[in-house]
Amino acid sequence: MYTPAPCGGVFCYNKTMNLESSVEFLKGIGPKTAEILKKAGIKTVRDFFYNLPRDYENFQAPAKIADIEPGNVVIKGKIENLNTRRTRRRNLTITEGIVRDSSDAVRVVWFNQSYRAKQFESGREYYFTGLYELKNGRYQLTSPSAALVTDVDQNSSFQPIYVAHGALKSHDFKRLLEKSKPKFAEIPDLLPNVEKGLRRNSLFNAHFPTSREDVSSAREYLAYEELFELILAAKLNKLENQKLSATPVSFHAETIKKFIEKLPFKLTNAQRLATWEIFQDLEKGTPMNRLLQGDVGSGKTMVAALAAYEVASAGCQTALLAPTAILATQHYENLRNLLEPFGLKVALLTGATKKKDDLKAEIKAGKIDLIIGTHALLTDDTEFNDLTLVIIDEQHRFGVEQREKLVLKSPKGKAPHLLAMTATPIPRSLQLTVFGDLDVSILNELPKGRQPIETSIIPEIAQKETLYPKIREIISKGQQAYWICKAIDDNPTTETASVKSRTKKLQEIFKDYKIEFLHGRMKPAEKDEIMGRFSSGEIQILVSTTVVEVGVDVPNSTLMVIEDAENYGLAQLHQLRGRVGRGQEKSYCFLLTSGDKDPSRRLKELEKSTDGFHLAEVDLKLRGPGEIYGNLQHGALDLRIATLSDTKLIAKARHDTDLLLKNPENMLKYEELMSNIHKYQQLTTLN
Ligand code: ADP
Ligand code: MG
Repeated sequence: MYTPAPCGGVFCYNKTMNLESSVEFLKGIGPKTAEILKKAGIKTVRDFFYNLPRDYENFQAPAKIADIEPGNVVIKGKIENLNTRRTRRRNLTITEGIVRDSSDAVRVVWFNQSYRAKQFESGREYYFTGLYELKNGRYQLTSPSAALVTDVDQNSSFQPIYVAHGALKSHDFKRLLEKSKPKFAEIPDLLPNVEKGLRRNSLFNAHFPTSREDVSSAREYLAYEELFELILAAKLNKLENQKLSATPVSFHAETIKKFIEKLPFKLTNAQRLATWEIFQDLEKGTPMNRLLQGDVGSGKTMVAALAAYEVASAGCQTALLAPTAILATQHYENLRNLLEPFGLKVALLTGATKKKDDLKAEIKAGKIDLIIGTHALLTDDTEFNDLTLVIIDEQHRFGVEQREKLVLKSPKGKAPHLLAMTATPIPRSLQLTVFGDLDVSILNELPKGRQPIETSIIPEIAQKETLYPKIREIISKGQQAYWICKAIDDNPTTETASVKSRTKKLQEIFKDYKIEFLHGRMKPAEKDEIMGRFSSGEIQILVSTTVVEVGVDVPNSTLMVIEDAENYGLAQLHQLRGRVGRGQEKSYCFLLTSGDKDPSRRLKELEKSTDGFHLAEVDLKLRGPGEIYGNLQHGALDLRIATLSDTKLIAKARHDTDLLLKNPENMLKYEELMSNIHKYQQLTTLN
């Protein structure tokens, strides 16, 4: 274990190397290299040190071929039967061979690396490191790296592997890090209450390990550091939210009771509880910051309606924001029917709204109680009289900046109460870390009488026998179907089905049915018209892109086909599927796959389960949080190491952040920490 010279404790951030300096500050990195690094997101010295190896090659302990299991492996052996061929279809060069040791042999395959055919000397031993996996029904070692055994210096037999960026390959990163080695000693401490030098030792050991143990202890500290930052950011957000003031809305039990009695159905217990939690928040003088999580079809809109009703009863305004105009329109129709009989004024404001100026004047004058719209409500010049509650449907589609704009629209320095609704459940681990600043209500119960959706994966070629009869059956009962395609138009270079050509084909197959299409490039008025005719039952099959993904509610549709299902992520598939199974009738979802590959884990999980919370956990495991929440939330959540499955480490970080927060003035000493967490604060805040 390496121990660099101490730099003077935790407060040395400004006295030594500045981690925020450009990477060019480091030896060996000139403008050209810096440019490539910048493209890879590595801009500062800090970014460079924190660009950790993707994996390690361990030549110290090669496995016997007879013992290897799927995953990353290192083996030692001789190679035979090398040959190279070209595939006609995808124009790939495939180099194959057999690696043999005294225990067994394994097939190795490289793609587009034809030099491999000439790389090896027969009869000599090499190390091979790579992914051992089942591909097209056969086990193989895919694209391993190889090194001559006699070339491997036993002292450097445990080596990091870096992700290549442009012209910079793994060995370039190694070379550059080697040059910066002395700089590691200058890396200041970051966190309170941890051993001095632990940070720089950990970073050093992650880049220059001598064993597995070095790596795992380094990674444990670095994961802790990351969790600490995430959790601290979330907690600070919560504290900051508590400093804001909002208009309290007092609870009128009688009024609400009368309203609930007149509803066409009984509220579920989960809806009651969530509503109660929201009402309690609304009574406070600090803004509510609540996330309402409920699986698709659990009745979130009803909860939103109750909240809006409560606010209107106090004479204040609510804005409800939806991610698409289709959804805003649908919310408007539903909520107007529900709330206008009780004297509320409900209005829709989208790009397609006529006489906008008149409507805006009414909003400003406080004559409208509930304004429903899309993002446009935030960007335009709409002024409110007394905006007290903001409800955001499908919150993960709204960026931080959009949320901030809303706060500016509130009167008299008050922040509005915020209720975000989402059907993409946040796994518990994320709730404890990234989303720790939110209060959460959960609708974990579907309205009575719902039957689980029956989901089946079927190969495209089996459509005729299995799918068409089912479509005829449900339509003969007066029900309706969705058919989802990825593309709008045909594209000659892919075989992905398009909405337009699929509509034509289906019209030929089902001559008696009314079949129409819907997609995002249509004009808002056209979309409204088609959705209206589908809702009223005039259209029997709606062929659509994923514009129907979020929130569309036509309870009479009971069958959904998702073509090229492998092209979608798990959360998205679950969302799409949630468009059916919304009424009392049994519903079906067919996932069509083309080609002869085994269906992916994603599809199999979806076939087995309709539980959004379970699927969200699976998705988190399969893809990692960066991809799930990062992309949607403007790419900012980009976890390097923290796995979020390490509950012990999460608990420790939560405990330690609490200690720090006991004396908030102490935090100012941790300048670097404070600046690091700023981006996380932006990410998770709703206010
Ligand atoms: P989501 O949570 O996906 O937004 P919605 O709010 O669109 O769900 O509700 C789905 C459907 O269930 C709607 O047709 C709605 O009218 C109906 N619904 C909501 N609450 C109940 C309830 N308590 N009992 C019966 N049906 C309900
Ligand atoms: Mg909804």
